[in-house]
Amino acid sequence: MTMPQRMCAGCRARADKTALVRLVWDGAESVIVDRLQRLPGRGVYLHAGCAERALRARALARGLRRPIDGAAVRRVLSTLPVG
Ligand SMILES: [Zn+2]
Repeated sequence: MTMPQRMCAGCRARADKTALVRLVWDGAESVIVDRLQRLPGRGVYLHAGCAERALRARALARGLRRPIDGAAVRRVLSTLPVG
């Protein structure tokens, strides 16, 4: 079975969607992790370990079309289970 693929916003490699974290704008004030990858709206995919790279490249701001608070992104990603 072929898994849907998405590009990581950090390293720009393609990967199975399920190997990436999907981040979406919550519509109010923050970025949230879309754990089931089903929330509506614009999202960006990235490897959990590529977050810093994506922030440096402003890839999240570009993908979500908003100014992104790096500290908030680090905070939500720190809640992810490791591995
Ligand atoms: Zn990556």
